[in-house]
Amino acid sequence: KVSRKSKPEKTIVKVSNIEIGSGKPVIIAGPCAVEGEEEYLKEALFLKEAGVQILRGGAFKPRTSPYTFAGLGEEGLKILARAREITGMPVVTEVLDPRDVEIVAQYADILQIGSRNMQNFTLLKEVGLINKPVLLKRGLAATLKEWLLAAEYIVAAGNEQVILCERGIRTFEDYTRNTFDLAGMVAALDLTHLPVIADPSHATGRRELVGRVALGALAAGADGIMVEVHPEPVKALSDGQQSLDYNEFQNLMTMVKRFISQS
Ligand code: PEP
Ligand code: MN
Repeated sequence: KVSRKSKPEKTIVKVSNIEIGSGKPVIIAGPCAVEGEEEYLKEALFLKEAGVQILRGGAFKPRTSPYTFAGLGEEGLKILARAREITGMPVVTEVLDPRDVEIVAQYADILQIGSRNMQNFTLLKEVGLINKPVLLKRGLAATLKEWLLAAEYIVAAGNEQVILCERGIRTFEDYTRNTFDLAGMVAALDLTHLPVIADPSHATGRRELVGRVALGALAAGADGIMVEVHPEPVKALSDGQQSLDYNEFQNLMTMVKRFISQS
């Protein structure tokens, strides 16, 4: 169902008045995690001003160590909903557990399935039953075929509003956090009618590389980018080393807007 052969025309995923996959790249940005109400609302207003269309922020965080910040849970979801109220922008947030799909869907506009859960088939089937877009990240070590088959689970369960996200894969290279698979992203754009976006933040793990990888992804035809931004990256509770500060993000947005207006 997700292959181009079964449906040659591109799927456009709509969220409020935004179209993902329409040919005009969509910009998603926000902190890795929602850390507090005041901080998040301030950042949301900054991002709106900067030209972002969709807000991100984790309320349920999949952390490598069980002793690190795992997100604010439902309180984080409420903050996201408040940010939407104030800015009018839709929000995307991760759901980790099939038992939380209902509550996350109550607050969020797009549900994210993280890399670590790409083959959590129970979770995939559960988000296949809702009527909201799903952002499906590529697994840490998933082949293109496995990634597309994961999307197939969601579509087969009845939800065709799936956005794929290339976020880097594990290779022998350890200078970058992951290896951004540009060729894989381009191949995914060919193989499926679903929109495909890039996450240069998790793909690189290094703030100095994020902007250029984001622009490379857009030049290669990505339907959008998702970027982590934090007002004070050194103080971030997660993924500070890959988060852009406001100044860096504004510089990236200048380049992105130039790219979009020229293409
Ligand atoms: C995230 O978007 O913050 C995240 C945890 O991403 P990934 O699942 O790609 O690691
Ligand atoms: Mn993150």
